[in-house]
This record gives sequence, C-alpha cells and structure tokens, in this order.
Amino acid sequence: MKFIETRGNDGQSPLAVSFSEAILSPMSSFGGIYVPESLPQLDASFLEAHLDTSYKTLAKDCLAAFDIDIEASVIDEALDLYDAFDDSNNPAPLVKIKEDLYVSELYHGPTRAFKDMALQPFGRILSSIAQTRNENYLILAATSGDTGPAALETFKNRDNVRVACLYPEGGTSDVQRLQMVTEDANNLKVIGVQGDFDDTQAALKALLVSESFNTTLKENNIKLSAANSVNFGRIIFQLIYHIHSYLELVRQHVITLGDKVYLDVPSGNFGNALGGYYAMKMGLPVEKILIASNNNNVLTQLIHEGLYDIRETSVIPTTSPAMDILKSSNIERILYDLYGDERTKALMLQLDSEQYYQLSDEELVTLQSVFSADFCSDEEGKRYIQTAFADGYLMDPHTATCFKAYDTCRDKPLKTIVYSTAEWTKFSPVIANALTGEEGANDRDALQTIAKEANIQIPAQINALFDKEITQKTIIDKEAIEKEILAFLN
Ligand SMILES: *Cc1c(COP(=O)(O)O)cnc(C)c1O
Repeated sequence: MKFIETRGNDGQSPLAVSFSEAILSPMSSFGGIYVPESLPQLDASFLEAHLDTSYKTLAKDCLAAFDIDIEASVIDEALDLYDAFDDSNNPAPLVKIKEDLYVSELYHGPTRAFKDMALQPFGRILSSIAQTRNENYLILAATSGDTGPAALETFKNRDNVRVACLYPEGGTSDVQRLQMVTEDANNLKVIGVQGDFDDTQAALKALLVSESFNTTLKENNIKLSAANSVNFGRIIFQLIYHIHSYLELVRQHVITLGDKVYLDVPSGNFGNALGGYYAMKMGLPVEKILIASNNNNVLTQLIHEGLYDIRETSVIPTTSPAMDILKSSNIERILYDLYGDERTKALMLQLDSEQYYQLSDEELVTLQSVFSADFCSDEEGKRYIQTAFADGYLMDPHTATCFKAYDTCRDKPLKTIVYSTAEWTKFSPVIANALTGEEGANDRDALQTIAKEANIQIPAQINALFDKEITQKTIIDKEAIEKEILAFLN
C-alpha cells in the first residue's frame, strides 16, 4: 500500500510514498499530510473470523490488510506492548452503562490515557525503521497534557530516536507533569516552559524554522519526525479499537453481526474520530459517528453549518483540556476523503490565510451523512459525571462530553459506543469537585477524595509518581529553548 498527499503533489515530492516513509516524514506537498491511497475492505467474514481472536490478532490482520512495509517480527514486537496493559487479553474493555450505552475504555495503558493505544506500538515501529535505515530522529513535542507522557513512555531507551518534550510549567495537571519530569532516560529531554500552552507551541514552531537549529541538526545527522496524530503511524492503530469494540458488543450478545451502531468520540485533533471513520469506510457497520466537543466547539459548527471558523476566536480553557483545540489537524483527512485533493488544498490554504472556510450545501450533506455533533459545557459535563457516578460509573471530563452527544445527537435507538479517553486519575480535581463540591484541591488530595467516595484504590503507578525522584528539572524561558535542546543533542 502506498500513501498519497491530501493537498496534491507539488511536482517535487514523490507522488506516493511507503508507510515507513510517511511515518518518518509526515508532512507532504503544500503543507499537506499523508493518507492511504485506498482503504482495504473488511467484509462480514473478516469480522466473523475475528469474533474469537485476541486483540493482537485483530490488530495484526488489520495491519496486514494495509500491506505496510514493516517486517512481521517488528509488528509482533510492537503489538506485544499491549501485554503490559491491565488485561493483556483485552487492552480496551467495553463496559455497559445502560440499555443502549456502552463505554470502550481506552486508558488501560502505562500513562492512563488513550494516547497509549497508538503511541505504544508506534514508538516501537518508528525506532525500528530508524535503526534499519541507520538514521537518527528527533521527535519534538509540545504538550498540554497527555501526548507528552505517552510519547516519552514509548520512546524511553529506544535506539535512534530522541524526544524533546516541551510543556507549559503550571499548565498541566500534577499527575501529567510528574509523569513527564520523573522520566529518566538518556534519550529524553523534558523542558518546562515559562508561559502557557500557546507560548509553548509558538516556541516549538519558531524552533522548526530556526536556521541555526536546522543547521545543527544536519551537522549531527539528525532528522525531525512527529509523534502527533498528523502521523499516519498513529492513525493506523486507532482504527483497530473501533472494530474491537464493535466485536465486543457482538460477543456480549448485545447486537448481531451486521447491526449498526453509533460511535461517540470526544474530539480534539480528530485522530480518534478519524480511526472510527476509516473503520466505517472499511466495512464496519456504523450508523453515524458522533463528534463530542467542549466549549471550543469549532467542530460542532463545522458539522452543523459547514463553516470552519476560527476568526477572532481563541482557545477557551475548559475542564477537558485535551480537547481545547481550534485547528483540528485530522479534519484534513476527512476533507480529502470526501471532496478530493484539489478542494482540500483550497480549503486548507483558505483556513491558513483567512482563518475560515465554508463548505457548499452539497458538501455539507455528505459530511452530515457520516457525522453528527454537539458540544458540552463544563457545567453540563460536571452533571454528567455526577449522574454517571450515581449510576455506578466513574468517568473523566473528556468522556463526559460524549454523554451529552449521546443524549442529543441520535435519531435512532441504536447501541452506542462512547470512547473513554482518560482514567479518573488524570483529571482528579475536576472529578472530585463534581462528586463532593470540593474546590481547588491538588491532584494528591483529589485522588484521595475520589478513592474514598468511590471506594476504590488509587492505582499503584499513579501513587508512586508522588514519591519518584524528579530527574527532569529544566524550567526555562522560551528564548532559551533552542540552546537547551542543542545541548541535549550534543
Ligand atoms: C488526545 C485526547 C483527546 C482528543 O483526541 P483526538 O484524537 O485528538 O481527537 C480526548 N481526550 C483525551 C483524554 C486525550 O488525551
């Protein structure tokens, strides 16, 4: 399988690249990204054949359908990383909430957020390709919370890959920060930036275009790659769990093979939702994909009106910070799939220059045939957390946004799968506030409050964070970042 460009070809870049090329160097002509040239079709017999297989076998066969240029032994090793999830047989358990509402819990990996589902195997594969080619890569990441810990965890002590991870000092939860600053490996550098997430991201962008920085990288034979979801190497692992959760519904005798379901996804950069979309296009029986947002509701507006509009908007901080995003990068892959490369290029360039674009009526009808959307305010989210808890289910504020979409976006009484993206331990102050009214608690106290209220244990790896040695002590002004990273590379 080859990979092609969302914005068409500029006459200089290759017309099509292999999977390994697309993941080593994820940007394509005109600022576009890569998509598979076609999507493999998984018919009913594929689904039926996987009713009795493990998650790993399902994953292996999905990857095989894409016919990617990665050795079978490397894929096996990458998928073996799911063995370290809470239940090695089922890394993403499906839990019944009520009659037609089920939650697929994607947070049972090492950093307790759904980023592990894709980043764990992705890290193994990227490092292996780099080794085979005898090349060295630097992953630069600016994180507001979950990507940083998951990227550090997956690349820790891996050969031929180094990670420099920037986070806004004071802008993450205590647990997220501790997950980063207690990572101890020679190939990892964590930098706290004095400023907010926008400053951190701006600093990273400045670095990417800095001449002195790029010269030094060249001199040291280091190439840049990316671990965010513009990288197709993450997306390929994100369609698998959508198929898995559907099969779980069949296994639990809730549906019969072929019945349609709703997928209900808390969305930011749209990697998770795109995985669901690809699974649907590959043949998974899906009625619609429900796109849940918080008050940063650009995606709701896009799906309701066909207008993507970030003019005079700035990010609103919410209690579901992993979804506090205005430019949602994977929408580009949807535009490409629905309207083609020329139109995608025009729309994306307009978004860059004018901060908005408007789909035609016809285009909007196509979009709405696949997606419905709604957004959930922090207040509403808090009530959903309270109600679910009263019914015996503890969930995080990102997952809560999906419960609103479940209430407002369905027009048929079909079974619905909500994708839960974080364990309660990662956003404990918000949850403790919802459960007891307690305000302003730090993570440590909030974890204890919730453990007591819910009569559960704080997971050992979260508790251990508070006593671990802090090894990554760099906290600097954004002007000093380049020098700091160059020192790390030398
Ligand atoms: C990253 C993240 C999201 C958003 O996922 P996308 O694939 O970027 O849409 C939602 N919730 C949590 C907890 C996350 O970490």
